[in-house]
Amino acid sequence: MALYKTILSLGAGIVLSVSGASAQSYPERQINLVVPFAAGGPTDTVGRLIAEKMSADLGQQIVVENVAGAGGTLGAAKVAAAEPDGYTLLFHHVGIATSATLYGNLTYDTLNAFEYIGLVTDVPMSFVARKDFPPGDVKSLIAYLKANSAVVTMANATTGGASHLCGMLFMSAIETELKTVHYKGTGPAMTDLLAGKVDFMCDQTTNTTAHIKDGTIKAYAVTTPARLAVLPDLPTAIESGLAGFDVSIWHGIFTPKGTPAAVNERLSAALQRALADPDLVARFAELGAEPSYAADATPGALKARLEAEIPRWKAVIEKAGIYAD
Ligand code: ASP
Repeated sequence: MALYKTILSLGAGIVLSVSGASAQSYPERQINLVVPFAAGGPTDTVGRLIAEKMSADLGQQIVVENVAGAGGTLGAAKVAAAEPDGYTLLFHHVGIATSATLYGNLTYDTLNAFEYIGLVTDVPMSFVARKDFPPGDVKSLIAYLKANSAVVTMANATTGGASHLCGMLFMSAIETELKTVHYKGTGPAMTDLLAGKVDFMCDQTTNTTAHIKDGTIKAYAVTTPARLAVLPDLPTAIESGLAGFDVSIWHGIFTPKGTPAAVNERLSAALQRALADPDLVARFAELGAEPSYAADATPGALKARLEAEIPRWKAVIEKAGIYAD
């Protein structure tokens, strides 16, 4: 028995020293960044930008893996179950908080399945439609949607996607139910909007700004209280008569629970330096996105955000009657 105990404690000592050494030399190989939505969409766009900058800082490639479906919960589940060694990261948005209420069958416990690296960015949303959609402004858009609710199609990235939440809040604000079409992300939804195969969506400016600027889609409003510098002619939803319609989408980076503290600290430091990079700041600005402040690009700020957002959105979801569909 005594011998058995000694072997056990020796074993524990060896494990500790190995993980300590690997945390110090981290990263030694390629890192996987799981984006829980389709390639080419808004989360993918921001995920790839931040991956490129953090790769340079870490001296190892961060490769984006799109694990799309079920409002981002499939990708989150994959990371929750991954080896906690710093080589699998999750880039997610507010949907990680809302899905805790929207999905009854999650394989992970949202608040306890992850370690926190930091907040990355806040992204406004915009109401957009196919180029030849008849209404010209928000007022006529609302009248048109009310008159044609049986035929107008609204795209979203499945339950829990930012597009789903924004669309549900919009339908609730105008008291009109529209037919929704689900995609694995708003990247493929945008392809269909550009082709005129779907009518309307509320999507992040990281996916819509370039198309709004080149006139290939029609835009009605942004969902932030102030207009965006990159789209100065686009009114806000609030100034267009949708009182209090203020939605922007925060994003953060997570690692699986149990990832060594030194690894998480190294990733946070890389994130902070990436967000201060003038090239990244400029590229975010072109997309209407704001990099998070240094104080928010920290584990504590992301953890606090998630803890506050789960109950905040639970109340919104229940009030608006939003459920998984
Ligand atoms: N972020 C999702 C995407 O990248 C879209 C969404 O949340 O609605 O496709």
